Amino acid sequence: MSGDRPATVLFEGVVGQEAAVGALRAAAVTPVHAYLFRGPAGNGGLVAAHGFAAALLCPDGGCGSCADCRGALGGNHPDLHVIRRSGATLRVDDAERVVALAHRRPLQSARQVVIVTDVHLGALAVPALLKTLEEPPGDTVFVLLADEVTHELATVASRCVQVAFPPVPRAVLVQWLTTTGVPADVAAVVADSSGGNPGRARIMVDDPDVAARAALWASVPDELDGSGQAAATLARKVLESAERAVEPLRTEHARQIERLTAEAEVMGERGLPGRKDIVDQHNREERRWRTDALRAGLGALARVYGGRVVRAGAGGPVPPGDPEVRAAVEAVSLITEATRALPRNPNEALLLQSLFVRLGTLAA
Ligand SMILES: [Zn+2]
Repeated sequence: MSGDRPATVLFEGVVGQEAAVGALRAAAVTPVHAYLFRGPAGNGGLVAAHGFAAALLCPDGGCGSCADCRGALGGNHPDLHVIRRSGATLRVDDAERVVALAHRRPLQSARQVVIVTDVHLGALAVPALLKTLEEPPGDTVFVLLADEVTHELATVASRCVQVAFPPVPRAVLVQWLTTTGVPADVAAVVADSSGGNPGRARIMVDDPDVAARAALWASVPDELDGSGQAAATLARKVLESAERAVEPLRTEHARQIERLTAEAEVMGERGLPGRKDIVDQHNREERRWRTDALRAGLGALARVYGGRVVRAGAGGPVPPGDPEVRAAVEAVSLITEATRALPRNPNEALLLQSLFVRLGTLAA
């Protein structure tokens, strides 16, 4: 199949990135020496990089079934190298590993592929990378992965063909999750909470609490009786549930620290370089994750009230001033307001409690 595009099966693990996959299948026929995959980790860049590597290493241009294809897809091919940062940032010695690899000859295939992750965290490593990208060794194709093109990365980016991995649309995520066996209501909650990131969604699906959390938020309108007591109890419950939502991410972060520490030891380090910075970054991500869980819950709650408006209108035009519709519209607007205030509000408990009191009064 020389000259043909690589088999689609090489990219079947990439969720909702048709444009990127199309560009890569075309690029694999006559590749250039450097690509920059732009988009947050989890959006599919790393998975796509493995499919692309398979296409470049396979003697048939990516048949999808030979030993080269299987090896590259599984991250186990002598001519595929994945360079991950050995500390909080991509460091000069990481870049030196890249440069040294780039000047080797391929062992098994006609070329070799070097994937470098988290290049946006690589200000110090950029000069060494840049030099290699400007004088590319003939047989090497680089795939650089970056969450974003930072100021420091602009020159490197200009030497690469860029491929964007934007957030995946909600409907695509929901469909993907349900085809992997996730119940529809859970898929909806996970898709809302994941920010269009299939990698995050996959972690969230492992959260045993996700269905219970969705049910808790959906029960809010029925639990409210207009009393401060009921509002306070519910506010406490949803905050506790948002706290539990962070657990799968904490587990994932702990695994990551463990892996990085083990890799650093292999490289002769005592402990993990930049450990504090990594932990700080993890803490920031965990806080954002918790806020996202609350935001997703508020979104689910708004949909409960929104559903009342739709139901009221299902039998024909709703009389103007229909009290139930008016209350539901007002509720959605209160929830929207609270969602906007959430990220910059230091007292979430108070914010939610006051929202719930007002929602309870509307319903009464
Ligand atoms: Zn193959």
